[in-house]
Amino acid sequence: MIDFVCPRCAEPLSVPESQAGEPDTCPDCGHKLTVPLPDSFDSSVEEHAPVVPVTMTRPRAEPGQKKTGAENTLETMASLCVIFAVLSVIGGILFSLDARGPVWIIMGVASAIGLVMTAALLNAAAQALGYLRIIAAKP
Ligand SMILES: [Zn+2]
Repeated sequence: MIDFVCPRCAEPLSVPESQAGEPDTCPDCGHKLTVPLPDSFDSSVEEHAPVVPVTMTRPRAEPGQKKTGAENTLETMASLCVIFAVLSVIGGILFSLDARGPVWIIMGVASAIGLVMTAALLNAAAQALGYLRIIAAKP
């Protein structure tokens, strides 16, 4: 069966597929119409269905959420600083165990603190860039 709508009175009509493309008369209002072909009817339905979610999701995803290259670089450098901070503490402990006195562990901890502070700074800079980007994206 072919389901379509009368162009004059919008009455839903159902016609056997053998009548596709043939003239017919609306039983409701008497309008003389042509029964649509099943293929053209299907494609017109499919055209409408996927368009709606695409236009709904696109504007949301575009301006707000994509990080810029600078932000990604800052965040990568921040996590590298944390890794080096851990390494310097481990290095300090290992050197101080090697009978060279506690000076190495102090140096390791001191450089770790410096690296963690650098990491925090880089993260703050990345966040600041993110806020700037959101502000700039607003009309
Ligand atoms: Zn009609």
